[in-house]
Amino acid sequence: MLTGALGPVELVVYMRSLQGYYGSVTGKRISHKRVKDTQVFDIDDFVEILAANYPHWKAPIVTFIAHRGAGPFEILVSTLLSLRTKDEVTSRAAARLFEKARTPGQILSLDLEEIERLIYPVGFYPTKARRLHQVSRILIERHGGKVPDTLEGLLALPGVGRKTANLVLVEGFGKPAICVDTHVHRISNRIGYVDTRTPEQTEFALREKLPRRHWVRYNELLVAFGQVICRPVSPFCSRCPAAFMCPRRGVDRSR
Ligand code: SF4
Repeated sequence: MLTGALGPVELVVYMRSLQGYYGSVTGKRISHKRVKDTQVFDIDDFVEILAANYPHWKAPIVTFIAHRGAGPFEILVSTLLSLRTKDEVTSRAAARLFEKARTPGQILSLDLEEIERLIYPVGFYPTKARRLHQVSRILIERHGGKVPDTLEGLLALPGVGRKTANLVLVEGFGKPAICVDTHVHRISNRIGYVDTRTPEQTEFALREKLPRRHWVRYNELLVAFGQVICRPVSPFCSRCPAAFMCPRRGVDRSR
């Protein structure tokens, strides 16, 4: 553990993570040797290092909205808006929409053109406006106006895939689920924790392997980390607080 009394091994892990962190904030390049791919990867240390650095990164948009007290319906709507859309755009669109409508009934009271106007310019805004109407109607007709709190119930809603459903379970209901998006898929493979080809395969591999205590925060931490350090193209390995333990699988070019 990185808190409380530290043993010799934990102390080394902690000092190296701090070295990485201070390198990242000072911009100083740190030489990290690539570790052997055969080394057993300690996911507890990795998660703790990310958690220690997280306050200096930007929270993913849906987590940010959840931490401001949003309920499950607003989390579901924000997640649908965020698909293929930058966080800043989602944030402003969600704020405009929630000023007018925060419940399924209120969404249905707006016509499609009004919703489109409010959520523009999120990606595919006409489709998303129609989706919000469809989802709101189903919630009212079949679920008493509430968002279902099961994976199966969420997946039955139009436009809701595994990524969205798992994120709503985590952020809307605080239930243990693993939301695998492009960041979680990419980073889990780079660190050698899984060996998978698709996000769906990664979700099932993580369900088998990742200790349940990490499920709720895994997406939040890896998305923030992936946006700042472990970027899709040419990650900032020289500033990475976990570089000393990462085999950098599949990384051909880094900064
Ligand atoms: S930034 Fe580089 S060293 Fe850090 S986790 Fe990603 S690939 Fe590994």
